[in-house]
Amino acid sequence: MKHIDEVKINSLLDLNVSEREINYILKKSMLLKRLSLEESAKLLSVKDIALLKKVYNASIYVKNRIYGKRIVMFVPLYISNFCSNNCLYCGFAVNNKLTVRKKLSPQEVKKQTEILLKRGHKRILMVSGEMVSSQENVNYYVDAIEAIYDAEYKGNKVKRVNINVASMSIEQFKRLKQSGIGTYQVFQETYHDATYRKFHVTGAKSDPDSRLDAIDNAFKAGIDDVGIGFLLGLYNYRFETLAMLMHIEYLEKIYGLGPHTISVPRVELAPGSSYAAKPEYPVSDEDFKKLVAVLRLSVPYTGIIMSTRETACLRDVLVNLGVSQISAESRVTPGGYEESFSCHNDKLERQFSLNDQRTLNEVVKSLLSQGLIPSFCAACYRKNRTGKRFMYLTKPGTIKHMCDINALVTLKEYLEDFAVPEIKELGYNLIEEYKCKLDNVSIKVLDKFFKNIDSGIRDEYV
Ligand code: SAM
Ligand code: SF4
Repeated sequence: MKHIDEVKINSLLDLNVSEREINYILKKSMLLKRLSLEESAKLLSVKDIALLKKVYNASIYVKNRIYGKRIVMFVPLYISNFCSNNCLYCGFAVNNKLTVRKKLSPQEVKKQTEILLKRGHKRILMVSGEMVSSQENVNYYVDAIEAIYDAEYKGNKVKRVNINVASMSIEQFKRLKQSGIGTYQVFQETYHDATYRKFHVTGAKSDPDSRLDAIDNAFKAGIDDVGIGFLLGLYNYRFETLAMLMHIEYLEKIYGLGPHTISVPRVELAPGSSYAAKPEYPVSDEDFKKLVAVLRLSVPYTGIIMSTRETACLRDVLVNLGVSQISAESRVTPGGYEESFSCHNDKLERQFSLNDQRTLNEVVKSLLSQGLIPSFCAACYRKNRTGKRFMYLTKPGTIKHMCDINALVTLKEYLEDFAVPEIKELGYNLIEEYKCKLDNVSIKVLDKFFKNIDSGIRDEYV
């Protein structure tokens, strides 16, 4: 696979590392410095429990320094489960004859979005299977994105649409950009060439190099917020992690910019997939925690996303350790948010199984109880603070006070419009606690926004 030097990565697996070396690397990472591939490999090789604890503590420190207590909330919106590819781990694979196929019309997409707005969601990740014609794909996506932005519930509108769809040409990416997407996300699934070819048997996705080109094409089209990742369970997770970091090094070298976010989903049960039922490289919760911590330390300014594939219990741990964005009350089925949607439909039409079934209100409650601030903010995207500009403001910490204000404003809006009384109380207590930590200028701005919210004004940000 291009850009990925497998020989070098293999030479970095299972290194013998001293405690002194680990202490040195952790010290460097706590200065918020980007780690080298070798240093990340050394952290990944830590097995000793006491030393692992040090790695976790450093990760918690870095997470707090850069992201504070904010956790960005989003929800996936599946628009079609038709797919022309044959990924052996996925319920949407073309050869899976069990799955009942559904492709939402723009009107149906709008209706699904209205349901999500009614529950308090503001940031959507649009997801789709891949049709045979890439032109047909892009036309369909653009119509769906328009429908999402068009939806409204009592003055609430979607603030940002991120998308997770197959690769396309530079010209097609330009069209997507015009439609107002936030992040373009695509996962390499596995960076190990032979494994990639084994799992992606037919269809446009079967070429690993053209899958890798997706991010280059997006950058070349001017999309500067991209999300990458791999699917845990297909191959050795330490190889995959180092290979993804190598991919990031390549992007940084060529474009002067890495990904905005990283996702490391674990393979879950999927209808019709015998592989997903018994993956050859399962990743334990402990290894998953280590992986998240090492990513947090290796690329401190890159957001880490975690979906509802993971259990509520593990998610509650990882939001403190390194994760910066989470989804809530997700359905991985087109049309899955309809009130009449049944478990029976879900089994026949979903992509894979989910382990955290909590509602948005329940997830918000859990975050607030841990002293974390659920944020529905999309101000950077709307103010063009993306790509290099975002990094330029983030690295010296310039943006942090804006993020704090925006997060608290979106939290207050959520509490006023969507929260049950118990959560409202928890939220307001936390807001008071946080306000005390802000400087006087920020408090003044916040008070003005809060007053406006009380008089019915919504969606203000800095
Ligand atoms: N079809 C597009 C693609 O493959 O890029 C878009 C999104 S696909 C619906 C989203 C992601 O779901 C895939 O990239 C893959 O990593 C993940 N996925 C597929 N099957 C899965 C499974 N059984 N368990 C967990 N995640 C899975
Ligand atoms: Fe299609 Fe994506 Fe599933 Fe592969 S992972 S079968 S491309 S929906």
